[in-house]
Amino acid sequence: MSEAQETIFTKIINREIPAEVLYEDELALAFKDINPQAPVHFLVIPKKIIPTINDIAEEDREIVGHLYRVAAKVAQDLGVAADGYRAVMNCNEHGGQTVYHIHLHVLGGKPMGWPPYTEKLKV
Ligand code: 5GP
Repeated sequence: MSEAQETIFTKIINREIPAEVLYEDELALAFKDINPQAPVHFLVIPKKIIPTINDIAEEDREIVGHLYRVAAKVAQDLGVAADGYRAVMNCNEHGGQTVYHIHLHVLGGKPMGWPPYTEKLKV
């Protein structure tokens, strides 16, 4: 299990640095990605620090499931739910993870193409 260390996302949760927050509740926060890879690109994070997918514990089932419900709600609010979107979570170096606090990338507003793992679509 990785160390549960604070990252830039903890600072966003604590409002120590600004972000365009789209949704918040007791378990999760959704905010726009600072470097969008699609017309709509936001992140959904748990308030609990879980560094990577590998660190998701049995007790986190509700939290992780909730991230998807928040993703769908915000996608609906932003008008991309019906056309669809991609929801992905990167894990560790080979997955392209750069911030070690799990986050669902939600990308939409255009066809996202396939496969998702090309350089062009690196998310
Ligand atoms: P990862 O590469 O870990 O899957 O994704 C990290 C994401 O966080 C990247 O898409 C990056 O643009 C975004 N990000 C990194 N720092 C910040 C920040 O300070 N504010 C916001 N809004 N997004 C950030």
